[in-house]
Amino acid sequence: MTVKVTVTGAAGQIGYALLFRIASGHLLGPDVPVQLSLLEITPALKAAEGTAMELDDCAFPLLKGIDITDDPNYAFNGTNVALLVGARPRTAGMERGDLLSANGGIFGPQGRAINDNAADDVRVLVVGNPANTNALIAQRHAPDVPADRFTAMTRLDHNRALSQLSSKLGVPVTDIKKMTIWGNHSATQYPDLYHAEVGGKIAAELVDQDWLKDTFIPTVAKRGAAIIEARGASSAASAANAAIDHVHSWVNGTPEGDWTSAAIVSDGSYGVPEGIISSFPVVSRNGQWEIVQGLDIDDFSRGKIDASVKELQEERDAVKELGLI
Ligand code: NDP
Repeated sequence: MTVKVTVTGAAGQIGYALLFRIASGHLLGPDVPVQLSLLEITPALKAAEGTAMELDDCAFPLLKGIDITDDPNYAFNGTNVALLVGARPRTAGMERGDLLSANGGIFGPQGRAINDNAADDVRVLVVGNPANTNALIAQRHAPDVPADRFTAMTRLDHNRALSQLSSKLGVPVTDIKKMTIWGNHSATQYPDLYHAEVGGKIAAELVDQDWLKDTFIPTVAKRGAAIIEARGASSAASAANAAIDHVHSWVNGTPEGDWTSAAIVSDGSYGVPEGIISSFPVVSRNGQWEIVQGLDIDDFSRGKIDASVKELQEERDAVKELGLI
């Protein structure tokens, strides 16, 4: 059966890196035909058409068709997978309230359009920043969709953490298991080495504590800024790759003996207030995320998780105050 995938902000940098991989079968698997729906703001429709022309020119065997629109109701009609990439970026001098309001104007209507039009099995991944809170806004506008279908991306942070640890220890990334990103996709995120394992040993015991606290954590959390500094533009291909990884794991499951990171609606686990969209260690079973339970959290990790969760609560309170949820 053909799966319909909607991508918002399809004419942007991440969209450009994402669409070709979806159409070539990396999102869902090499046997799953895909129908693409590209949502853009009106001035970017022409650029989206250009990307669609290039997609046509690839003659991807799995790609059954492409729709391009600026109407969310049309874009999400019958959608099985929604990748919400387009967002209002923070510009110089912008207050947090302005940023949240601008994004509320995007993610509220998109949540409603998903509620009213998407397929019953819709799965939503928010990439556009501030991703966790944008996902919360969309979720609150979709009361008929199970809340656990709304997620935000921390998989790029997760992959960055794997890569940093792999090069520090000189081991392949495939030797590292049970990495976790906790909290918000922001500078307060907490990449956790106290549960990560390398060849069966706890990663935090294989590195010195100064490196862990003063190099590893800030390097992962600030990697986005370092890419902008080096490349002169924000990360796009690695963000698209992480979006592919997130949905692939969600749909096809995570391997036994390992887990990944995703921001999902909290059920109160690990003291994270119910209802906010926060990153956890997760496995996917039968197409559903489950939070890994029973991990011991020491004082250092507790402080880091609480600080990031506090930021998420503040964002939630701010969007509530603005009447966006
Ligand atoms: P990008 O494609 O580079 O980025 C899109 C969003 O992804 C941004 O909010 C960006 O946040 C976010 N993002 C999340 N994680 C990462 C990461 N690790 N690295 C980089 N970005 C990340 O932006 P463009 O400006 O190239 O394209 C955006 C497109 O969205 C435009 O074509 C615009 O027209 C469209 N748009 C569509 C809307 C709609 O469909 N209704 C609404 C708004 C915009 P950050 O800015 O913080 O890096």
